[in-house]
Amino acid sequence: MDKRELLSAEHVYKYFDGTPILQDINLKIKSGEVVVIIGPSGCGKSTLLRCLNGLEKIAEGKIELDGDMVDPASKEICRLRERIGMVFQSYELFPHKTILDNITLAPIKVQKRKRTEAEEEALKLLERIGLSAHKDKRPSQLSGGQKQRVAIARALIMHPELLLLDEITAALDPEMVREVLEVVLDLAKEGRTMLIVTHEMAFARAVADRIIFMDEGRIIEEGTPERIFEAPETERLQRFLDNMSF
Ligand code: ADP
Repeated sequence: MDKRELLSAEHVYKYFDGTPILQDINLKIKSGEVVVIIGPSGCGKSTLLRCLNGLEKIAEGKIELDGDMVDPASKEICRLRERIGMVFQSYELFPHKTILDNITLAPIKVQKRKRTEAEEEALKLLERIGLSAHKDKRPSQLSGGQKQRVAIARALIMHPELLLLDEITAALDPEMVREVLEVVLDLAKEGRTMLIVTHEMAFARAVADRIIFMDEGRIIEEGTPERIFEAPETERLQRFLDNMSF
């Protein structure tokens, strides 16, 4: 059976100070699909993710999550954004709150869930990512890899329909990259719908159902990991892959 289409972007354009940043982006993600975006720095990957969850306004085009319009100007945008989890390179944890409080804050404040229920789920998530022993610590007491796993747990507790991961290992020391990517691989195995921006090509290949290559604000190629890595169709993708060390 064909899976349901969860996210759709049609003819999306975005400009910063008159400069085109995204040009005619067309993208569809089905429920359960893992899509990875690769491309050189500055090509618009991060901006695209921010447009997809309504953090940035688009100039033209249409973005929908399960049929609902993603529009930063709409009154519904906060509720819609709750359905999309986003994890950033820079963790964005609250420094003065404990790890447990960092995870339970949004479900309690935003989703109005009971503290006991939110804490119970947070503890299960912490166990899953191997950080139960750190629940009462502050973010500054954790390594980068641990902080990023907490940021993933904080996104998961909101039960998002879609997870957007924006270069979540880019700030980590190499030895911490694996522990974070293993959590993401695990999420892919359980059928989470994810859109991932990464420079980790071996990981992209392992986790993706489909890979999108962007350059200068456009989607240049997309296909299965095998097709993208073994038979690039454009010189631009070939050059990009040649420059990546993996
Ligand atoms: P990537 O994620 O692929 O590295 P970005 O989406 O971060 O690329 O950036 C794409 C382009 O948009 C870059 O040229 C960047 O300088 C520019 N840009 C990003 N954010 C802003 C902003 N808030 N104002 C102006 N220009 C921006």
